[in-house]
Amino acid sequence: METNWISSSPGYPRLGENREWKRILESYWSDKISREEFLQTMKDLRLQYLQKQKDKGIALVPSSDFSYYDHILDTAVMFGLVPERFQGSGDMLQTYFNMARGTDEAPACEMTKWFNTNYHYIVPELGEITPSLQENKPLQDFKEAKEELGMDTKPVLIGPFTFLKLSKGYETADFEAKLEQLLPLYTTVLQQLQEAGASWVQIDEPSLVPTISEEEFRSVQHIYETFAADVPELSILLQTYFEGVHFYEKVTSLPAAGIGLDFVHGYEKNMAALKQFGFPEDKTLAAGVIDGRNIWRADLKAKEELLKEIDAHAPQSDKIVQPSCSLLHVPVTKTLETKLDSVLYGALSFADEKLEEIAALTDVLSGHSAADTMEENQQALKTFAKTYRQQSADLTKERESLPSKRELPFAERKKYQDETWELPLLPTTTIGSFPQTKEVRVARQQFRKGEKSPEAYNEFIRSKIKEWIDLQEDIGLDVLVHGEFERNDMVEFFGEKLNGFAFTSYGWVQSYGSRCVKPPIIYDDVTFEAPMTVEESRYAQSLTDKPVKGMLTGPVTILNWSFERDDIPRKETSFQIAVALSREVQALEESGINMIQVDEPAVREGLPLKREEWDEYLDWSVTAFRLATSNIKASTQIHTHMCYSEFQDMIESIRDLDADVISIETSRSHGGLIESFETAVYDKGIGLGVYDIHSPRVPSVDEMKDMIDRALRVLPADLFWINPDCGLKTRNTPETVDSLKNMVRAARESRETR
Ligand code: GLN
Ligand code: ZN
Repeated sequence: METNWISSSPGYPRLGENREWKRILESYWSDKISREEFLQTMKDLRLQYLQKQKDKGIALVPSSDFSYYDHILDTAVMFGLVPERFQGSGDMLQTYFNMARGTDEAPACEMTKWFNTNYHYIVPELGEITPSLQENKPLQDFKEAKEELGMDTKPVLIGPFTFLKLSKGYETADFEAKLEQLLPLYTTVLQQLQEAGASWVQIDEPSLVPTISEEEFRSVQHIYETFAADVPELSILLQTYFEGVHFYEKVTSLPAAGIGLDFVHGYEKNMAALKQFGFPEDKTLAAGVIDGRNIWRADLKAKEELLKEIDAHAPQSDKIVQPSCSLLHVPVTKTLETKLDSVLYGALSFADEKLEEIAALTDVLSGHSAADTMEENQQALKTFAKTYRQQSADLTKERESLPSKRELPFAERKKYQDETWELPLLPTTTIGSFPQTKEVRVARQQFRKGEKSPEAYNEFIRSKIKEWIDLQEDIGLDVLVHGEFERNDMVEFFGEKLNGFAFTSYGWVQSYGSRCVKPPIIYDDVTFEAPMTVEESRYAQSLTDKPVKGMLTGPVTILNWSFERDDIPRKETSFQIAVALSREVQALEESGINMIQVDEPAVREGLPLKREEWDEYLDWSVTAFRLATSNIKASTQIHTHMCYSEFQDMIESIRDLDADVISIETSRSHGGLIESFETAVYDKGIGLGVYDIHSPRVPSVDEMKDMIDRALRVLPADLFWINPDCGLKTRNTPETVDSLKNMVRAARESRETR
């Protein structure tokens, strides 16, 4: 039986080649364009994206993946799940943005990370509200494409199981009841699509990837049986991504016309399962073979082989060829990147190029010749592999010469450190950055555009450092920082100074709402070139007798917030970064900076989706941190910072980092973290953030004293540090000064009662 290969796209970036989407959104928010203009320009973009995908040769073009903010929020609003605090505005679009962004009276809905990506979705709040269908967005978008472009699209929806799993405001025991409320609404949405003539509908269920229980699977079964009975004409493509599916046999047996599997990030698991269990004859397999999360060009020869192998194990004649997940997680097109070197450029593939790869593969497999495309692809990748990332013998030697742990245990180091610093009980400090005011941003822009000379810019940075050293002394903090005014981003700053990183001009990816990030590309061996932070830290130290903490970003965070090589284990790249950072640590120590903070805010978000893979990841993460921070004197104090309060489930690893002091977020977890210390022992220096820097509110002395008291019921006072919960770069100066003054008073008053 001849296989019929069908090209597909599971989702496309919203941002636009030049972040047009962001600009339209922000112009509307700041009243610079009217609602009509907003709706019209968004519609133009939406249609343009559909046409573009079709022109690239994609047969199944997704619709309704486009959003004004976030597709999970779209779904919540579509089902009328508007929390009470946002009700009554009488205007759906306004309500929608209020939920996303908050108002003076109503705090925004919570936002959280989309699985293990850097995208953030708005968490639906179920609460007491009974859902009801407000508008059928997938239907509207389907009809729009049909009417305006004459195009039959593939509507995309988030599946009910995943939607409920990601929602909050209900007890686990009520899952079934909530599902019973939602399911008829989903059915209506699908029935209307069926009536409108849709054929394939993609229903995303990424929650089938992490570990789920048998009982949960029964709900999934029920969902898809309901759809099969109620919308029999519709071809439902049940789409999974980011890893192998948990219950492969059961998932592939669900009554859906097609099953989408990730053969990039879930390659091992899905391939092994496919070989072992095969694939049902009555279903179409959608094979995600092009990486939807990284920016490297695919080896088309290897992918062709992979698809043939998949084909051999799946008997049905129809096969869908597609990226491993929505292309939301990669930039739009590499064609605007005129400044990259040609060898690197030749090895890149952003969203548009990935769709071209899909089209080329579909062509080749369908028996059309694409010899030139294949040849060019193989050549470009060969040249790239020959040119970059040689991991020379010197690099290996350097790594092997580094200690992977500190010479003395914490308790002994602490004696030296206490003698060196003579800090008061409950020392006060901050996490590193001070307000990045307009003045700071403008100066940086002028410098980057060449309008400000390096000398003038340097002078400006020094003036900011001086201003804040003086302020910190006035406030009465015990351990000072230089304020990070020279950094716009904690990864980009280091990437620009280390070897092995490249920066794109337009490689933006949506992080949340209109916020985008432009992750650096790690393409070559990462090596140390010259000290990166010494000058600023040393200058700051020269202005004060108090200790100044040096400030670095850790190896795992640099890795997790970059696009890294996909042909080299992540662990290897993290070790290279660690070795380079150890040189910086060394340079700081030599220049008299003997307290050094190495931030690792992104360790937690890099945790694998499957629990059984956590240990391996945490092991190399700890090793990387220790490689960076162990080649120093016992009296040098290593700090680290992490921005989250889920702590209990990785406390062993946090302890293994062997940092002398860790600062960690507490204030938003409402004491939950403190409780976890009642059972977990933490026996090194620790600062639990005593106030929430995400809010402009100035916290009172008493509330921070309360926080300290609560913590000291479970933690020893001689290990406890007092600090805000994260860096202060997003706050303004008066707020920051007032809050820190109150914090210092709270520390002083707490000391007196001990
Ligand atoms: N040192 C950094 C800062 O203060 C830490 C930021 C972070 O943890 N995300 O800005
Ligand atoms: Zn933080």
